[in-house]
Amino acid sequence: MILVTGGAGYIGSHNVLALIEKGYDVVIFDNLELGHIETVGTLKNIDSKGKVVDFIQGDLQNFDDINSVFKKYKIDAVIHFAAYSQVGESVKDPQKYYFNNVYGTLNLLRAMLENDVKRIVFSSTAATYGEPVYVPIDEKHPQNPINTYGRTKLMIENILDDYDRAYGLKSVRLRYFNVAGADSKTRVGEWHEPETHLIPNILKSTFGGSKKFQMFGTDYDTKDGTCVRDYINVEDLAKAHIFALDYLEKGGETNYFNLGTTEGNSVKEVFKACEDVTGKEIPVDIMPRREGDPATLIADNTKAKNELGWTPEKTLSDSVKTAYAWESIRSI
Ligand code: UDP
Repeated sequence: MILVTGGAGYIGSHNVLALIEKGYDVVIFDNLELGHIETVGTLKNIDSKGKVVDFIQGDLQNFDDINSVFKKYKIDAVIHFAAYSQVGESVKDPQKYYFNNVYGTLNLLRAMLENDVKRIVFSSTAATYGEPVYVPIDEKHPQNPINTYGRTKLMIENILDDYDRAYGLKSVRLRYFNVAGADSKTRVGEWHEPETHLIPNILKSTFGGSKKFQMFGTDYDTKDGTCVRDYINVEDLAKAHIFALDYLEKGGETNYFNLGTTEGNSVKEVFKACEDVTGKEIPVDIMPRREGDPATLIADNTKAKNELGWTPEKTLSDSVKTAYAWESIRSI
């Protein structure tokens, strides 16, 4: 049985689908503050071919909530997504982020140790690298996060190293670049309120009543003046977690990997891909730069390829297509 914290959220829910597909029993733990009960309903109703897909509502900041899950189920490993992830908010209200992300994870790890569960795949981020010193960014790049969100994730990475040394708890930390797209069968997708991410914001602006798309900054030192990011498809990303679980199940040591495509796309290129997929001319407002946005973030994914055997397969256009299919359903 795999415990998935944050399994009712965007990335977590796609991972639950991937786990079900691979024949794992899954228990989702989520406080439903940002995750959605509708997503839980969808996941519980998937034909799991006799495998368990259970849901427990609870909060990681409450030790008994999470500890009771380990008492109820025989957990083999944990995939830990539950966290706040908005950079701007993390700077305005760091306490909220340290309590939820760091303290919540400490409770989870305490429950793991008390119940003798020693394997965890942790959802980390390229934000732990901070302003890039060089690109593409490999795992040797210094980790100097420039915001509270990135610092919470780096602190947890450091805690995981200490817990391995002291208690033999093995972790794989997956450092995501820009996650994009939705389930190709449109069962789950990206659903944030408010939405801050590029692709859903462009697509939302194509539906009546939505806000006009705002493009933040066209004066960066990049190919066309807009920020360049590495958009990794959410289904490809989910597959990497299955490889990471497998790696730990086979006795792999604590490790960390970048998850990206090695391709950089500018905001203007993403915008064009959205116009191509939707067949619509999308109105846009050019805005000043958004605070804290580095010009270019691109992953070197060689380590994940070599050591996990993972290769991303989907293109930016695939991600935009599935994201559009998902937004189309939601806008009805
Ligand atoms: N962006 C934009 N308009 C939006 C949302 C994002 O121009 O409504 C830009 C943002 O400034 C950044 C890129 O798109 O350069 C990716 O932003 P996103 O929030 O999707 O991911 P991040 O790179 O911040 O994790």
